[in-house]
Amino acid sequence: MSTADFNLNNPLEATLKAMLASGRFPHAVILEGGSAPERLTLAKKLAASLVCSAGKAEAPCGVCSHCKKAAADSHPDIPFYTVEDKPRAFKVEYVRDIRNNAYIIPNEADKKVFILENAHTMGVEGQNAILKILEEPPSYVNFILLCSSKSVFLPTILSRATVFTVGEAKAELDDEIRAAAVQAALNVAKAAAATDDFEIVKAAAVFEKDAKLLKVALPVIQEVFAAAMREKYNAPDGGDEFGTIPGELALKLSRRALTDLVDACDRLMASVRMNANHNLMLTALCTTLRKAVSK
Ligand SMILES: [Zn+2]
Repeated sequence: MSTADFNLNNPLEATLKAMLASGRFPHAVILEGGSAPERLTLAKKLAASLVCSAGKAEAPCGVCSHCKKAAADSHPDIPFYTVEDKPRAFKVEYVRDIRNNAYIIPNEADKKVFILENAHTMGVEGQNAILKILEEPPSYVNFILLCSSKSVFLPTILSRATVFTVGEAKAELDDEIRAAAVQAALNVAKAAAATDDFEIVKAAAVFEKDAKLLKVALPVIQEVFAAAMREKYNAPDGGDEFGTIPGELALKLSRRALTDLVDACDRLMASVRMNANHNLMLTALCTTLRKAVSK
């Protein structure tokens, strides 16, 4: 038993450990939610388990040479790719490098485990570039993509990876607050679809006295824009929680504008987590929306 082992009191970690022990671990996983260090710590446990030379049930044993190198972040078969957490930082050139690297067989272990940090900063071009290798990876390859929210990924990516939510799940929200947040998000999105500055400010006014509502509504606003992006790519996911709004947004806004809006929500959510000034946040929200819809 090592300190790098899974915490079996945590339901997600227990599930992942069981999947590893069964030998049926998905070749591509997305770890979303939680904080960046939480996601990375979990990814490292998974990577160590996959390269560990002890039996599947014992991994990560913490004592084999693979576990030791993994713990020291020096295992040659755990390529770690990271970028700054800002829009489109995960460049398509970087993805091409990952693709080429994936075809080189492992040095020491039976597996090669790619950890991609801040994968949510991958633009559409990068996502399309990584798609092929996610579709048909060499048998020895595993991918672990870390992101703040899976909503930034194209449906084609999501259909090829298994998503696990780290930390608090969105679904655990109080129903009433969620309903209010959805309504507020829809109003904002509707105003954005109308590309009307005044309507946008009016729709955002509901957050003026309610910092908590904004915190809850931002991920929902992002979901609406992500749903619109899926419509734009003719890949609606069938959910009808947002009614006709995603369709309207897809008609009125360009792919670029929608990508910008999804990215902007990420930045705003990061500011909220860092307790940024509420009024400045609101101004930023309105400015971002107006900028995106005027393109
Ligand atoms: Zn080991």
